[in-house]
Amino acid sequence: MSKERIAIIGAGITGLVTAYTLQKQGFECHLFEKNSLPGGAIKTVKSGSWQVEYGPNTMLLKDKTVKVFLEETGLLDQKVTANPSAEKRYILKNGKLEALPGSVTGAVKTPLFSLKGKFRVLAEPFISKSTNPDQTVAEFTKRRLGQQILDYAINPFVAGIFANSPDSLSLRHAFPMMHNLEQEYGSLIWGSFAGAKKRKQSGRIKRELISFRDGIGQMPTILASKLDTVHLNTEISSIEKMLDGWHLISGKKQYGPFDSVVLNTPLYKWNTELLSIKKVQMAKIQSVYYPPLSVFCLGFRKDQVSHPLDGFGFLVPEKENRSVLGALFSSTLFEERAPAGHHLLTVFVGGGRQPKLGSLETEKLLPIVLDELRDIIGSEGEPAFIDHVYWPKSIPAYHVGYDEILQVFDSIENQNPGLYLAGNYRHGISVPDCILNGLKLADRVASG
Ligand SMILES: Cc1cc2nc3c(=O)[nH]c(=O)nc-3n(C[C@H](O)[C@H](O)[C@H](O)COP(=O)(O)OP(=O)(O)OC[C@H]3O[C@@H](n4cnc5c(N)ncnc54)[C@H](O)[C@@H]3O)c2cc1C
Repeated sequence: MSKERIAIIGAGITGLVTAYTLQKQGFECHLFEKNSLPGGAIKTVKSGSWQVEYGPNTMLLKDKTVKVFLEETGLLDQKVTANPSAEKRYILKNGKLEALPGSVTGAVKTPLFSLKGKFRVLAEPFISKSTNPDQTVAEFTKRRLGQQILDYAINPFVAGIFANSPDSLSLRHAFPMMHNLEQEYGSLIWGSFAGAKKRKQSGRIKRELISFRDGIGQMPTILASKLDTVHLNTEISSIEKMLDGWHLISGKKQYGPFDSVVLNTPLYKWNTELLSIKKVQMAKIQSVYYPPLSVFCLGFRKDQVSHPLDGFGFLVPEKENRSVLGALFSSTLFEERAPAGHHLLTVFVGGGRQPKLGSLETEKLLPIVLDELRDIIGSEGEPAFIDHVYWPKSIPAYHVGYDEILQVFDSIENQNPGLYLAGNYRHGISVPDCILNGLKLADRVASG
């Protein structure tokens, strides 16, 4: 058997990047995907002049390696950069949208935090380092920056990224950069200044918020089109190690032998039939929480909305007791997302904050969302466009104690040479993190 046949299970972005990179290096790659399209959480849908995103809307380009990858695959030519007004991000406070400050003067003037809250931030460099190796994002923020920053900046921010709450997420795993700043410099403020030079040297480039002409979904489409062997509509039910190598089972079909197998499927899809590992390991893996999330893509005529929608979108702090987590001003962010004279909004509901609400059916949830939008952005009347997608399990929560889960991955790989585990459940959930992880994984597989 050739030493160069690799099976990749799951055509999420990590699996696609791994397959593309290994194929380029001369490996024979077979990518298996249960759905009829590649992309996993990434899904762009076109409907007339509306172009909506069911999953990620944007990716933050800040790493040279990711940029080089996009360049090499031709994706950089398709890149669209977010409207500069996207710098403006709104937070709901006392029922009113207030812009997050983007400058020192803005920070002094903002009504988001009281004078006491602002002075509390200035004390940050004088707060000593935590001795707790695995603190929650909430504990860290409250200790270093105070309750107001936790309530009106970090709480909504965590809802916007992880669809979850800062009370359960681990700082070290969910926001490793903040953890490192405290550990290395003893302060976020000093660390941000001192670390800027270091970050530049480590391959950081000017940050850019991007998508592609045909939406984020253009990325999986282009990557998959460059692969020699993609088996769509093929759900793998079992991975088995035999004398001649790894074999995969899908229905009555068997594929193999392969030298290596990369598993890029979400943790809630793992079971002991798919992967023969210890029950205790499987139980730990299945304990990882993926909160349910509803995404509404809503279009309005511009004259139906009184707010100018001049920014990235808005986030809602838990303290405001609302039903929506926040919304993106999608047609402000990128051109050609809505017909002329219309706005497109992407609204998020549920998450770890209100899991039951997020799982309500469209007929029950839509009126709640529309009522709230009327109140927050002054939208009136029936939307010109409505689409609702429900993610029963959206984004893995890197909870406190996630170390144990990472150790399980390490030991599964050690006990099964040739089996590699990769996806947003390990080393970052963002699309750029997944791209970086796919590239690193390809190197690991190639070097055996
Ligand atoms: C609603 C939402 C909004 C988001 N917004 C952003 C954002 O704005 N910016 C950002 O950077 N990130 C965002 N993210 C996060 C990011 O999109 C994901 O973390 C990332 O795309 C996950 O990629 P992955 O490689 O882990 O694979 P996944 O996308 O999880 O794909 C796994 C694939 O495996 C397949 N599969 C499962 N089981 C099997 C099997 N047995 N056999 C074969 N195939 C199988 C699935 O069908 C799927 O295609 C968002 C995520 C969600 C859900």
